[in-house]
Amino acid sequence: MIDVRSLFAVMVTTNLVLAVSLWIGTGRRLGAGLAPWTLSLLAQAGAFVLFSGRGQIPDWASVVVPNGLLGVSFALAAAAILEFRGKRLPRIAPAAAAGVAVLAVGIPLDDPTLRFALANVLHAAFAAAVGAVAWKREPGVSAGPHGLFLASFATGAASFAVRGAAPLLDPSAAGGLLAPAPVQALALLATWGAILLSTVSFLLMQRERAEHLSRELASVDPLTGVFNRRTFLELAGRQLARARRLETPLSLVLLDVDHFKRVNDTHGHLAGDRVLRRFAEVVGEQLRQEDILVRYGGEEFCLLLPDVPGPGAVALAGRIRKAVERASFGIDGADLSLTVSAGVASRIDEGPESLDALIARADEALYVAKHRGRNRVAAVSMGRSRAA
Ligand code: GH3
Ligand code: MG
Ligand code: MG
Repeated sequence: MIDVRSLFAVMVTTNLVLAVSLWIGTGRRLGAGLAPWTLSLLAQAGAFVLFSGRGQIPDWASVVVPNGLLGVSFALAAAAILEFRGKRLPRIAPAAAAGVAVLAVGIPLDDPTLRFALANVLHAAFAAAVGAVAWKREPGVSAGPHGLFLASFATGAASFAVRGAAPLLDPSAAGGLLAPAPVQALALLATWGAILLSTVSFLLMQRERAEHLSRELASVDPLTGVFNRRTFLELAGRQLARARRLETPLSLVLLDVDHFKRVNDTHGHLAGDRVLRRFAEVVGEQLRQEDILVRYGGEEFCLLLPDVPGPGAVALAGRIRKAVERASFGIDGADLSLTVSAGVASRIDEGPESLDALIARADEALYVAKHRGRNRVAAVSMGRSRAA
């Protein structure tokens, strides 16, 4: 039989080791929810120390305070999950959780059976509530770590529920926290497992999310937030292979802002940057989900349009041209208008070509659009040219 008091000592040690490791291991930065998580582990450790003093210290210290601390620890766990998602738990939540727990055990303080049952039901509900907060999976986090994390809170809730219900089934489990009943020790062991599992899976989720963010960062242009050229080459290769396999159309549009050098010369490079950001927004507003917008370099952007044939791409480029013409790119209150030229190339029109050939053809079309006076769309197809 496992001695409950020894088990508490092991749990306190585990929580302290986890908390200190997180603190030192993150270089004392504890970002993305790890600060409230570490505090939650410490609050639990404090609760376990006081719980194991049951019978040797006054009831308020071994019953009321530690149950309050457990309430705080659940609220902090919820805060950690929300912070991981970039959200915040209301500041009042830990105090509210502590208050509810203190009342639940404080009012029936003279009735150990009732207060024991109430405390366990409440903590089971808290654990389930934290599980509910964590229910939605973050982008970039896979089902494995997320499932383990949810399982840890389900285990935690179940272990409290079993502990609360045990006296009803096994009279030897009555007599509270330190009752020498196997079911109590086993339930506590499950709580310990749940704490370990939740911390490990939280860290696994953190790692996955960090990898996801760094992949995302590496794939976008920092100024405009649209895909960068490297990602374009990757995506375009894949889309071209798909279009060839399924014999579907694929179009490419090169967009080049007209006389952009003048914007820089007149308003400065920083203002030019802001205009480029706004330009990407204006273009983005005209696109569907499947369309891929890329900053090709400087003030040149590229659109990859899966399943769009030549005429559709010319029409879209025309809509973008008009939207840019209508949009205001105002700098410091002054109105600034802009125009764009576009060159369109399409795979179906021109046969199964390489990506390089498609880009070269779009570039050729762009040259035609510029040459004809800018603020227009041109498509070069098999040596012929078309304008919109
Ligand atoms: P055209 O109508 O022939 O395209 O004329 P243009 O002035 O737009 O073309 P050009 O290629 O001569 O000039 C492009 C300018 O874009 C020059 C460069 O300073 C500016 N540019 C390129 N990248 C950036 C950037 O990231 N920020 C800012 N502000 N300017 C940029
Ligand atoms: Mg250019
Ligand atoms: Mg230009």
